[in-house]
Amino acid sequence: MLVLGLETSCDETAAAVVEDGRRVLSDVVSTQVDIHRRWGGVVPELASRNHIVQVMPVVHEALTRADKTLDDVDLIAVTSGPGLIGALLVGLQVAKGLSLATGKPFVGANHLEGHLLAIRLLEDAPAPPFLGLVVSGGHTSLYEVRDYGNYRLVGRTRDDAAGEAYDKTARILGLPYPGGQPIDELAQKGDPEAIRFPRALPGDNLDVSFSGLKTSVLHHVQKHGVPQGQALHDLCASFQEAVADVLSKKLVAAAKKLGHHQLVLCGGVAANSRLRALCKQRAEERGLRMFLPPVRLCTDNGAMIAVAGYEAWRRGLRGDFRLAADPAWRME
Ligand code: ATP
Ligand code: MG
Ligand code: FE
Repeated sequence: MLVLGLETSCDETAAAVVEDGRRVLSDVVSTQVDIHRRWGGVVPELASRNHIVQVMPVVHEALTRADKTLDDVDLIAVTSGPGLIGALLVGLQVAKGLSLATGKPFVGANHLEGHLLAIRLLEDAPAPPFLGLVVSGGHTSLYEVRDYGNYRLVGRTRDDAAGEAYDKTARILGLPYPGGQPIDELAQKGDPEAIRFPRALPGDNLDVSFSGLKTSVLHHVQKHGVPQGQALHDLCASFQEAVADVLSKKLVAAAKKLGHHQLVLCGGVAANSRLRALCKQRAEERGLRMFLPPVRLCTDNGAMIAVAGYEAWRRGLRGDFRLAADPAWRME
């Protein structure tokens, strides 16, 4: 089954062609970060307008690179939530339009399920059950994946998402938006033990919290000024260590508590070098298997939506023209 996946929930316009939910034939991402950077974050109205400009060229490019036409496509999968309402509507209306014009069926896919199921695109993908940690710009949620379509939320952030903590910290440090990658790069040459930032919510519960960490960075900068040179590297490394330490500890603790042996990390922050390394290390120390999607499948893309749509279709889900975008759609 050939699936065209379409993603416009935030600031990436993306389309991909994926075969049988496993084999990526093309994966095209047009990012708007340069447009939003001067505002320090995503401006919803600008995002919607730019999706309108980009969406058809991106779909066309995805089909061309896959050497397919719309005639070859069996299913159109589109993110219908969660995300920015205006941004979601662009993708959803395009999917409906393409469906109407071609007679091909379409299905609404959940963006977070997309992040989780991106792992299906690995050659040796884990079969459920597994524990999946979604760490992204808007979410930090731990799910028990009992089966495809059967998810239980077992832990979450009580305030900021991990990506949000990165982006807000970058802003405090005067670094560009989005802050994840710049901080990750600066941290490479820093000492992770230079500053001992707080680790929130230790103990038995599986929730995390990042707003205290962000405030600690702010207090540090208020006291010592915005660090330069080596001090900036050290601060970034120390911040990154705090995030990776908490998330990797919670993940392996959850595995023990809930009796899981397979772990999945996904979402934009799963691209983080230290988080990947520490999760892998701590999982291996406990004899658990850690599955990491390649970096390009961590941030928003169309391939993950094609996979989520394919799985939803197999479960019997069907899109109809009354399908509405749901900005707060909960996967569980
Ligand atoms: P959501 O998926 O919750 O709706 P989103 O789609 O905007 O939010 P993603 O595209 O999954 O989020 O991820 C973007 C986030 O990932 C940003 O906050 C960005 O800073 C962060 N990020 C990207 N690369 C890295 C990295 N190397 N280290 C840490 N964070 C990163
Ligand atoms: Mg984005
Ligand atoms: Fe995302």
